[in-house]
Amino acid sequence: MRIDVVTIFPEYLEPLNVSLVGKARARGRLDVHVHDLRDWTYDRHNTVDDTPYGGGPGMVMKTGPWGDALDETLADGFEAGAHSPVLVVPTPSGRPFTQELAVELSERPWLIFTPARYEGIDRRVMDEYATRMPVVEVSIGDYVLAGGEAAVLVITEAVARLLPGVLGNAESHRDDSFAPGAMADLLEGPVFTKPPEWRGSGMTAVSLSGLHWMLGRRGRDEAFRRTAVNRPDLIERCEASAFDKKDREILSILGWSPEPGGRFWRRPEDMEQ
Ligand code: SAM
Repeated sequence: MRIDVVTIFPEYLEPLNVSLVGKARARGRLDVHVHDLRDWTYDRHNTVDDTPYGGGPGMVMKTGPWGDALDETLADGFEAGAHSPVLVVPTPSGRPFTQELAVELSERPWLIFTPARYEGIDRRVMDEYATRMPVVEVSIGDYVLAGGEAAVLVITEAVARLLPGVLGNAESHRDDSFAPGAMADLLEGPVFTKPPEWRGSGMTAVSLSGLHWMLGRRGRDEAFRRTAVNRPDLIERCEASAFDKKDREILSILGWSPEPGGRFWRRPEDMEQ
């Protein structure tokens, strides 16, 4: 996969050289290019922003530098159709970044990120590139950062670990929280390692048996417990048909019951548990 990032803070992307993403680059799985947006400014002050039309506080990033930077980046190998790059625009008003979107992006050959500063980029830039390639506006959460670079790091790491040959053990993302498959819509349960006894807290015979209990019934019950406490919304939006008899038993113990519409809800008196 190829990744291009256009930013006014190229040094902010240094973490792309370390750990999993750094190794993926070293192994040739990821081809990352970071560009300084100010290389496409032509005035003495390398201006990338201007006052907003319509007034209001803050500055807006100008069309000119973004247009020239993106045109030059795209000229280096643009293809339309299935092989087309995707323009990934970090913005708090974008589509929430989820594991599902990470999987979607990991299937594309080329991502071009446009992390902004100030009040964001002049809208016409996104609209113009949307006529030639997919443009996905992505939010990494319901809060406002000073710039989109941290969002690029988050998205890149989540996408890179899904690429073939990047994780040491290809199985390890299959039972992650949010991963499609057996544990879909549940958070991952707790994990443990050696020693078997720590500060009076020991492991059970099942977990010491060497069986991968996380993927069995015990692990699924733990996943339900954690999801019920931290993300009840995930259980609420699941179709009841997704739950087997044992799932229903643990849900009932945790205070959830089926409602006539087919989904599960929790009794208000059990909310604090
Ligand atoms: N005025 C904008 C708004 O309220 O939508 C916020 C602009 S923010 C100060 C500057 C830039 O940081 C954004 O254009 C975007 O690139 C990035 N950013 C901030 N919060 C983000 C989030 N939650 N997800 C993704 N990018 C974000």
